[in-house]
Amino acid sequence: MMNEIEKTLTDAGVRVTAVRLMVWREIHSRFTDAFSLADLEDALPTVDRSTLFRTLTTLVDAHLLHDIDDGSGSQKYCICPMCDTRHCGGHVHVTCTSCHRTFCLTNVPIPEVPLPAGFVPEQAEYVIKGLCPHCATHRH
Ligand SMILES: [Zn+2]
Ligand SMILES: [Zn+2]
Ligand SMILES: [Zn+2]
Repeated sequence: MMNEIEKTLTDAGVRVTAVRLMVWREIHSRFTDAFSLADLEDALPTVDRSTLFRTLTTLVDAHLLHDIDDGSGSQKYCICPMCDTRHCGGHVHVTCTSCHRTFCLTNVPIPEVPLPAGFVPEQAEYVIKGLCPHCATHRH
């Protein structure tokens, strides 16, 4: 019998393999905000880095994850509840300049920007740099 998490992969057109299933399950149980390949390596030390990277790429291509460039120099990924199997416009992120975590504002969609005629948008990133609530409160 197919469980919910496996069904999400199948519905998105991803062929289910043991590794993909394990990675997808781990991402769901562990990360509520943006994570990097290194974070995933820490979570799944038994899977080699290139396999993890390929799996992430597959999940991004299937629109099950968003990829974000938060300016940290390492690619970040996140689950987006606004995504179904089609591509959504993405959500706003806040990168904390103190703890360097990148937070998903999953219910704040990226605002639509009117582009001049002729431009064809493919992807948008909206990253705000600032302090997270914890760092804003504990800063001296
Ligand atoms: Zn999305
Ligand atoms: Zn912070
Ligand atoms: Zn996000």
